Amino acid sequence: KAKKHLGQHFLTDESIAKNIADALTENGYNHVLEIGPGMGVLTKYLLQKKPKTTVLELDRESVAYLKDVFPIEHLNLNTTSDKFNIIEGDFLKKDLQTLFNKEQVAIIGNFPYNISTQIVFKAIENRDFVPEFAGMFQKEVAKRIAEKEGSKVYGILSVLTQAFYDVEYLFTVPPTVFNPPPKVDSGVIRLIRKEDYSLPVDEKLFFRVVKTAFNQRRKMLRSSLKTFKLSDSLKEDPIFARRPEQLSVQEFISLTQKIANNAI
Ligand code: SAM
Repeated sequence: KAKKHLGQHFLTDESIAKNIADALTENGYNHVLEIGPGMGVLTKYLLQKKPKTTVLELDRESVAYLKDVFPIEHLNLNTTSDKFNIIEGDFLKKDLQTLFNKEQVAIIGNFPYNISTQIVFKAIENRDFVPEFAGMFQKEVAKRIAEKEGSKVYGILSVLTQAFYDVEYLFTVPPTVFNPPPKVDSGVIRLIRKEDYSLPVDEKLFFRVVKTAFNQRRKMLRSSLKTFKLSDSLKEDPIFARRPEQLSVQEFISLTQKIANNAI
C-alpha cells in the first residue's frame, strides 16, 4: 500500500522506468545514488549499468522488500557486494560528502513530489560531488528547473540550477502509469554539471540577488532590489529597468557583479 505522506506513487510501466534509468550518461562518475527506490522499478535497470548503485529509501517496508528481493532475483549477489548498497534514511538529512567519501556521484530518482525542490537545492549545494542529476518531477517543477528567461515559470529554481548545470527536459509521463496515479503529469529532466561551474561572483550575494528579485517578479529590479542600497548612478544602468523573468542566468551574474562593485 502506498504511503501518501512519503509521496509514494509507484511507477508501473517498465519501459518508462528503463527510459528514466537511461537518462544517465554514465560519464564522469562510478557511483549512482537513487533516492526513493520504493519497490525498485528503476533500480533494476540501474543495476544493469556499469557504476555502483546505492539506493536511499526512507520507508522501512520498502527497504525490507528491496533487501529481500534484489540480491537474489536481480543480481545474484548479496547486499555487501561492491555493486549494490541499500541504505534506510532521509535524503534531506544525510551528509552526502560523508556518505560517499567525496566521491563523484550521479543522483537519480522518481522523486517524492513533496520534497522535490529541496532535493534539487541539496544537489546544487553538493555540486562539487554531483556531476549529474536526472529524474522525475511534477511536470510543472521539471519545467521550472529547465525553462529559460521569458518563460512564465522561469524563476529562482531555474536560475540557481542553470548557473551550475546544463538542463534538458527529456519527456512527459502521464498519471496513468503510476499506482496510485498522481493528480498531474510528470516530467523527466537531466542536469549535467557545466565544465566550468565556478561563479565569478560571491555565491551568497548571487543567491540573495536572485531570490530578492524574484520575490517581486513583476517589479523592475530598480525597485525590487532596493534593499541592496544601490547608488543613484547604478540605478541608471538599463539592467535595473528590467524585470527578473527577462534576465538570463549570465545577466544575473553580471547584475550581481554590478551590485558587488556598487560602493557608496
Ligand atoms: N522509485 C519508485 C518508483 O518509481 O516506483 C518509488 C517512487 S515514489 C514517487 C517516491 C519514493 O521516495 C517512495 O518510495 C518514498 O518512500 C521515498 N521517499 C520519500 N521521502 C524520502 C526521503 N526523504 N528520503 C528518501 N526516500 C524518500
